[in-house]
Amino acid sequence: MTVTPNLDDPTTWPLFHRGMCQRCQAWCCRLPAEVTVADLIAMELLTDFDRQEPARLLVKRLKKQGIIEHFHEKSGKFTLSRRANGDCLFLGEENRRCAIYNKRPPVCRQHPRVGPRPGFCPHAEK
Ligand code: SF4
Repeated sequence: MTVTPNLDDPTTWPLFHRGMCQRCQAWCCRLPAEVTVADLIAMELLTDFDRQEPARLLVKRLKKQGIIEHFHEKSGKFTLSRRANGDCLFLGEENRRCAIYNKRPPVCRQHPRVGPRPGFCPHAEK
């Protein structure tokens, strides 16, 4: 029997191994993806010019555009928006693949080496 891990409880996540991703529904793309202004520029969602804009105005604009769902004032990081079903905004609904894969932010590239439980992944079979 396949046990679906609880995204909010990393103790239920299985140990990551190569090949796991091929059979997965991309549940890592339901975790909160925190990005910086530099990441958003690299993702071509902001421009270099936007660096000069006060954070509160950037937050207002990015929320209006549906790109972010939250801003952490202390860390200066933005959380990418997720759909009602929990998927990241950029995850393909049909193919379960990242639509901006080549421009995905460091937090996504580093998973599962870095995160709530390094080396473990909230893997869910297709
Ligand atoms: S940006 Fe791409 S890799 Fe990162 S969480 Fe969203 S869909 Fe997944």
